[in-house]
Amino acid sequence: MFITGEQKSNTVAYADFEKYEDQIVTITGTIHNIRMMSDFAFVILRTARETIQCVYAESFSNYRMGEDVKEECAAKITGKVVAGETKDGSKRYEVQIHDIELLSHPAEIPPVVITKKQVNCDLSTKLDYRPVTLRNPKERAIFKLQEGIQRGFREYLTKEGFTEIHSPKINFAGAEGGTNVFKLDYFGKQVYLAQSPQLYKQAMVAVYERVFEIAPVFRAEHHDTSRHLNEYISMDFEMGFIDSFEDIMNMEAGVLKYIMQLLKTEYKNEVELLHIEIPEIKEIPVLKFMEAKEILMKTFKYKPSDMKDFDPEEEQLLGKYAKKQFNSDFIFITHYPSKKRPFYTMDDPEDPEYTLSFDLLFRGLEITSGGQRVHDYNAQVEKMVKLGMNPEEFATYLMLHKYGAPPHGGLGLGLERLTMHLLGAKNVREATMFPRDINRVSP
Ligand code: ATP
Ligand code: MG
Repeated sequence: MFITGEQKSNTVAYADFEKYEDQIVTITGTIHNIRMMSDFAFVILRTARETIQCVYAESFSNYRMGEDVKEECAAKITGKVVAGETKDGSKRYEVQIHDIELLSHPAEIPPVVITKKQVNCDLSTKLDYRPVTLRNPKERAIFKLQEGIQRGFREYLTKEGFTEIHSPKINFAGAEGGTNVFKLDYFGKQVYLAQSPQLYKQAMVAVYERVFEIAPVFRAEHHDTSRHLNEYISMDFEMGFIDSFEDIMNMEAGVLKYIMQLLKTEYKNEVELLHIEIPEIKEIPVLKFMEAKEILMKTFKYKPSDMKDFDPEEEQLLGKYAKKQFNSDFIFITHYPSKKRPFYTMDDPEDPEYTLSFDLLFRGLEITSGGQRVHDYNAQVEKMVKLGMNPEEFATYLMLHKYGAPPHGGLGLGLERLTMHLLGAKNVREATMFPRDINRVSP
């Protein structure tokens, strides 16, 4: 026998139903819902991306429905494709069941009702039963949409000449500093889980000029907040030969425009199912950090507790300001204080108290941090020493600078945060398939 790689299928996908109108087809899926009417029944079949309405009636079904036909049975249904109309008048196909072959039987009925429009239980229960609750069409649409975001990021950057890379997640040092690094015993030696691909994506700028990575990163967040996970998907890029850090912000605006367009066109069903308002991006307003602080104090009469960073409430107010003043769902804040940015950030030569860095806020939530990086060897070593770091420990990282690096910069965009605010969700866990937080590592 030989395996050829040819995909043979005797079943038909819903997308091809138009070609099969009034013909007999076979479809496979899971019996999502059975609704008994007086002399017929609706059998809703859940397939990879759609639910297909099938109709059972003794008058045209050879199959006789018995008690063995249950919700969550895997099934092969043979029947006639007939055209009908939905409530809003658009065309919809259904299948008049001739035969059902049951391929599997659940041992028990689902612990949570998944056949309603949405899963109606608290978040914690929803997460406890994730393998089951994600079968609900609205719930699973979130992660189909998330696929679209990643796909848009990948497609756009690939077209712009970026190379996709994968950096190691077991590392000799944490890149982002702070206390939220996971320590790991590595054959008796202490190593760390990657907080970001920072050091490696920078190294690859001297190799490929433009690189990106979509991968998990790990942060030991000791607090339980609605916007922090201990493992999240970071969409990172890093680009060389920039004229200024505006190039990075422009690339991000381009990526976001592309993603939103892709969601509108190729993820239309999910967007409608989730009632998502896709943001219109024409241009994104930019404010300097200190300008933003002044607006907060003057316009909003806010008393900041920290003049070096924003708290979540300040981010929310800046989101409101962007909407009101510029009709924009996004706003870039630039020139963050040097004290609050990591060691690889380039200080502003005009005022070294501040940096050539930025955050992007989406509907009042930070979704990106980025900026220009130090590329000169002596400047980087000097900055490390000033921050009390030992450059010798970073010798492999500093090879980039020592042996020559182009001016460069990049950013990290949190996939779950972006998804969360697209959904209008209050908790980032809603936008995480299997979240890991301080209280949860299962399922
Ligand atoms: P915050 O101030 O909100 O804690 P941060 O400034 O520490 O975030 P960065 O190191 O700038 O985070 O990470 C870049 C991006 O990664 C953030 O803008 C955000 O989208 C995302 N991100 C950071 N930490 C988390 C986390 N714990 N859970 C989910 N997403 C995160
Ligand atoms: Mg940040």
